[in-house]
Amino acid sequence: MEIVLKELTKVFPNGKNEVVAVDNCSFSVPSGTLVGLLGPSGCGKSTMLNLICGLEKPTRGRVFFDEDDVTDVPPEKRGVGLVFQNYALYPHMTILKNITFPLENIKGKDRPSKEEIKERAVQAAKLVQIEGLLDRRPGELSGGQQQRAAIARAIVKMPGVLLLDEPLSNLDARLRLQTREEIRRIQRETGITTVFVTHDQEEAMSISDLIVIMESGVIQQIGRPQDVYDDPANLFVSKFLGTPPINVFKGAVEGGKLIVNGDFIASAEGIRDGEVYACVRPEGLTPDPEGTLVCDLSRVEVMGRDTSVVFTHKDLEAPSGRAIVDLDRKNLSVTGDKVRFAPKHSKTLLFDRESGERLKAQAEK
Ligand code: ADP
Ligand code: MG
Repeated sequence: MEIVLKELTKVFPNGKNEVVAVDNCSFSVPSGTLVGLLGPSGCGKSTMLNLICGLEKPTRGRVFFDEDDVTDVPPEKRGVGLVFQNYALYPHMTILKNITFPLENIKGKDRPSKEEIKERAVQAAKLVQIEGLLDRRPGELSGGQQQRAAIARAIVKMPGVLLLDEPLSNLDARLRLQTREEIRRIQRETGITTVFVTHDQEEAMSISDLIVIMESGVIQQIGRPQDVYDDPANLFVSKFLGTPPINVFKGAVEGGKLIVNGDFIASAEGIRDGEVYACVRPEGLTPDPEGTLVCDLSRVEVMGRDTSVVFTHKDLEAPSGRAIVDLDRKNLSVTGDKVRFAPKHSKTLLFDRESGERLKAQAEK
């Protein structure tokens, strides 16, 4: 099932004012894929999901499932499975009853037989690997197991569309990692078209076929995770993706040269003169005695496999910046109070200082 959203807008009243939670958004979720809907808290992700499942009506725009316009179809008739942050299981029912509930609720001739209901619930439980827990009540399960049960309940009817709204937020770090891999596996095995909402860029990047990045109700960019990371459309996207975050320097382009703090840093041929943000990914800053970018060294940090050089710079936006470096490099002799970096061309991105739009050389476009 393909999901197609056309010029969706949702305006909420807010006292005398209005909140535009979703602002003229159009995108498609290709059939059988997992799309990550990503953005900071309050940017309109849940509203978008509610428009897809029908819990909210759009102010403008249409929702299509394949060729069918479902904009006016009530949520229970859309064939959508929903999973929320709080598992919302019925506490007094066993896990088996919780999972069979959507099937028991089917009325009329479409209602499966008792045996079939049980069989399908057990299948769904197997898929999420909780088949040994069916006789327990939700209170007797861990958070991760409860979320699996909630996923089993959402997919027991084999919906055409599965929507998950921050499903991992209540889990601890280790379980979050494990459960997101599980969700990916279940999605692959069932082939259900899935939209996964999160504010966690790493989560979205790791399991999505495509990510849709939102800010203030507006879609900023859509693409494959690595493509968006390498080629962000604007400053917001470049800063939102990546840990540690991209290093943002104030600079200027003058006659085809990138200048930061009065120093020539790199060629900026083909880019118009003006004030810019010069942004370099942490893995794009290589310590080099001949490097053009001179920073003040704070410290060298070793964390697991990563070695970071932490630095400050007068024109850096954040209080400190970070370079992830290869420990084996013999020129990591960053003693003294300065460190010089040679910014990698492919990891150095320029943005218009006013609009935040990405600046690219004509030839690169
Ligand atoms: P997210 O899920 O990305 O955190 P939401 O979709 O929940 O964001 O909210 C987007 C914006 O819409 C926020 O400013 C929020 O306050 C507002 N909003 C959401 N639901 C309602 C509602 N029912 N009434 C009024 N404002 C709402
Ligand atoms: Mg939300």
